[in-house]
Amino acid sequence: MVSRKLTERGQNADNETTNKAPRTQQAQRKKGESYGSWMRDLHHYYLGPLSIIASMPTFFLLIFHTNRQFHGSIAALVQHFEDVGLWTGYKEMWSTVSFFNPLAIAIVLGYCLFTLTLQVLVPGPKVTGTRTPTGHLPEYKDNGFRCYLITMAGLGLLTFYLKRNFGLSTTIVYDIFGDIFGFLLLFGSVFAVLLYVKGHVAPSGTDTCFTGYRIYDFYVGTELYPKIFGVDVKVFTNCRFGMTVWPMLVVIYTIKSYEMFGFVDSMWVSSILQLAYITKFFWWEAGYYRSIDIILDGAGFMICWGCLVAIPNLYCAVSLYLSYQNIHLGPILSAAILCLGLASLGLNYYADWERQKVRASDGNCILMGKKPDFIRAKYTLENGETKSALLLASGMWGIARHFNYIPELVLALSWTIPALTTNLLPYVYFVFLNVLLAHRATRDEEKCSIKYGTYWEEYTKRVPYKMLPGVF
Ligand code: NDP
Repeated sequence: MVSRKLTERGQNADNETTNKAPRTQQAQRKKGESYGSWMRDLHHYYLGPLSIIASMPTFFLLIFHTNRQFHGSIAALVQHFEDVGLWTGYKEMWSTVSFFNPLAIAIVLGYCLFTLTLQVLVPGPKVTGTRTPTGHLPEYKDNGFRCYLITMAGLGLLTFYLKRNFGLSTTIVYDIFGDIFGFLLLFGSVFAVLLYVKGHVAPSGTDTCFTGYRIYDFYVGTELYPKIFGVDVKVFTNCRFGMTVWPMLVVIYTIKSYEMFGFVDSMWVSSILQLAYITKFFWWEAGYYRSIDIILDGAGFMICWGCLVAIPNLYCAVSLYLSYQNIHLGPILSAAILCLGLASLGLNYYADWERQKVRASDGNCILMGKKPDFIRAKYTLENGETKSALLLASGMWGIARHFNYIPELVLALSWTIPALTTNLLPYVYFVFLNVLLAHRATRDEEKCSIKYGTYWEEYTKRVPYKMLPGVF
C-alpha cells in the first residue's frame, strides 16, 4: 500500500503532472508535525463528516416528503410537525418510505444492469485522464455521449411500448419514487461501505488515499480510481447512474405533468434547460475525467453515495415540484427564461473550452479576437522533475478565477425560476449549488496554491476575485 503522502494531491488537467494537495497536508497535520490543532482535527475528521453522513438521509427525505405530501410548502411541513410533534412527524415521514418494495428494487437494479452493460459494451475512443503522482495514467472509453443517447432513446421506446401494449406508463417511477429513494438509501450506503473495505483489502492499483481517520476516509473515499471487475466505479456512479438518472427523471416527471395537465410551459422550459445542460455534460464527458470530482475526490460516501442518492432526489426536486403545480408562464416569460438559460449554458461551456484550448495550443491561439494573456507556471513533481502549465489570465479566466461557476449558477436559477416564488423548496438545488461551488472554488484554490506557489500568487494578484468581481 502506498503512503498517504503519495496518494492525496492536486493534479493538473493537462495529463502530465501531479503534486501534493490539501489531503496530504491534512494527513500531516494529523500527526501534529505541523500546525493542526486537536479541535480542528476533531471537527475536520470526525464531527464534520459524521454529522453529514448522519443527517443526509433525513435531509433528502425531508425534501421529498415536503414535495409530495405538502405541495412543496415548507411552512405546511413545519406546521404539521408542530401539530403532531417532532418525533411523531419524523416517524410518520419515514413510514411513507419502503426500503424493500420489490418493484422499486427491480427498477433500480434493472437500470444498473442496463447501464453497466452499456458502459462495458458501447464503443468509444480511448481518452486519458490526469497522470497521478504514482505515474498511473487513467484511461477511459469515451462512450458517455453514446450511452446517454441510447439510454434516453431506450426510455422513449419503453414509454411507448408500455403504453401501447399494456396501458402502463413509465411514470410508475413517479408514483413509487419514495420506495425507490428508500432502496437507493440502502444501496448507496452498502456500496459506500463496500468501497471503503475494497480500498483497504483490494485496491485497484496505487492510487489509494487514506488519512488513517476511518470516518473521514469512509466519507471522502479510500481510492481515487477504483475499478470492480474492470468497471470504473466513478464513471458508473457519477456519470452512468447520477448524471443519467437525472435526465430520465426530468423526462418522466414531464410526462407525468403532461398526463395530468397537458402542456404546461413552466415544466417544459425547466426540462429543456436541464436536458440541454446534461447533454452538454455528456458531450464534454472526457473533460469531466480531468475535473476535481475525479482527480481530487476519492470514491467514497461524499461522491458515490451523493451521486446514487442525492442526484435523483435533490437535483430533480424542481422537476418533481413542477410536475404537479401546473404553473403557466406565458410565451414571453418562457422565451426570456429559455434565452437566459441557454446563454448561460453557452458561456459555461465556452469558459471550460477556453482553458482547454489555451493549454492544448500552448498559448498559440486567438481567444475573443485577441492573443491570450497567461502565466507559464512552474511546479515540481514528487520525483523532483519540474514541469510547467499555463494559467490563463484573460477572457473568462481574467474576470475571476472561477468565473465559469457563475453561468453554471445562472443556468440552475433559470431552470428553477419557472417554479416562481410561492414556495422556496424548488430552490433547494440552487442554494446547494451555491454552497458546493463556493466550497469547491476554495478547495481548488488551496490545491493550486500548493501546486503553483508564487505563480499562483501572481495569478491572484492579476485576477483578484475568486468567482464574481467585486463580490467574492
Ligand atoms: P474548473 O473548471 O474550475 O477547473 C479547475 C482546475 O483548472 C484547477 O484545478 C487547475 O487545474 C485549472 N486551472 C485553474 N485556473 C486556471 C487558469 N487560470 N487557467 C488554466 N487552468 C486553470 O473545475 P471544476 O472541475 O470544478 O469544474 C468543471 C465544470 O464542471 C465547470 O463548468 C463547473 O461549472 C462544472 N461543475 C458542475 C457541478 C454541478 O454539480 N452542477 C459541480 C462542479 C462543477 P491544474 O492543476 O490543471 O492547473
